[in-house]
Amino acid sequence: MEIPFHKPYITSDEVDGVVNALQSGWITMGSTTLEFEDRFREYIGCKNAISMNSCTACLHLALKAINLTEGDEVLVPAVTFTATAEVITYFKAKPVLADIDKHTGNIDISKIERKITAKTKAIIPVHYGGQPCDMDEIAGIAKAHRLCVIEDAAHAIPAWYRQKKIGTISDMTCFSFYATKPLTTGEGGMVTTENDEWTARMKILRLHGISQDAWKRYSKEGTWFYEVIEAGHKYNLTDIQAAIGLAQLRKIEWMWQRRKLIAGRYTDALQSIDTLMTPFVKPDRESAWHLYVLKLNLETLTIGRNQFIEELKRRGIVTSVHFIPLYRHPYYRDAFSYSTNGFDGSEWFYERVISLPIYPGMTDAQVHTVIDTVTELATRYKK
Ligand SMILES: *Cc1c(COP(=O)(O)O)cnc(C)c1O
Repeated sequence: MEIPFHKPYITSDEVDGVVNALQSGWITMGSTTLEFEDRFREYIGCKNAISMNSCTACLHLALKAINLTEGDEVLVPAVTFTATAEVITYFKAKPVLADIDKHTGNIDISKIERKITAKTKAIIPVHYGGQPCDMDEIAGIAKAHRLCVIEDAAHAIPAWYRQKKIGTISDMTCFSFYATKPLTTGEGGMVTTENDEWTARMKILRLHGISQDAWKRYSKEGTWFYEVIEAGHKYNLTDIQAAIGLAQLRKIEWMWQRRKLIAGRYTDALQSIDTLMTPFVKPDRESAWHLYVLKLNLETLTIGRNQFIEELKRRGIVTSVHFIPLYRHPYYRDAFSYSTNGFDGSEWFYERVISLPIYPGMTDAQVHTVIDTVTELATRYKK
């Protein structure tokens, strides 16, 4: 039996929650969505949590909240999912790619400042695989150059940086509840922020630009009255999704412990194999372990990364690659004239990485099969 790359951890908790939501008489955004936002806020320990139908929507409205405009520039790591950069193009602004640290996969803080210009408005660090970026250094650079910091925490729930939980550190933090992410609602996302003005604006923008308290201000008109105060979007979460989120949130710590356990087993078993490099996590932070990213020591192997993945697949183990660097995609290459130039860390990383299966529902037997198979290949194809 094939070991899939990912399987969401769904039990009767989520099923019962959805059934209750469906039978409640209110299935789109309503009290369950507000309850999910409250519980999420408590879990993260932040002031405001604004739910949306994806992390991409969250990143979009976060950039709208800071009034990003045409011609502006926003710094993003070169190795990320397209959503991180795509949202910048919605404004006719420019995603400026920064190289990554080849050890962690996170934005290389030593290469950020040379990319800052008078047009730079923000930086979007991505906590690659769940390991927090160097947030103190990023905050220092942002302060010196008056940039907003919007964290792409699609992989990072829960994750900790120097005793602070991800979601409490920067101007805004965007989480993803996509099917493969550590907490899922099928599709969904959440922005956390301490800023009440941005919160109010994002809440208006996520639902057609409708002023939430227009009817309060004009109460003589009654509850049917509303005003559109801005061209908004249809980005709201539904109560059906929020019910899944509430169930997931109740076991989020347990799911994290499971992923940590699997990551520990992989590292214990694979770290002494000289054809492989196990993940490097800095000592002052804790990864969410959304991904377990192995790097091949290509210099000591007779096969490359792609063939290694093929061999794993032939033996029933499905793996993945996170991510194809953005400058390698036709759109970013053509629209912004990017090439591989200046991205030594990203290129080195991209050639070597393989993401192994890691999810709470994996059985011990499956974890052992992955370890045995990776070990066999790493030994068989050693130079
Ligand atoms: C998944 C992902 C996103 C997008 O999340 P959605 O909820 O699918 O919009 C953004 N950034 C990164 C790094 C991701 O992995």
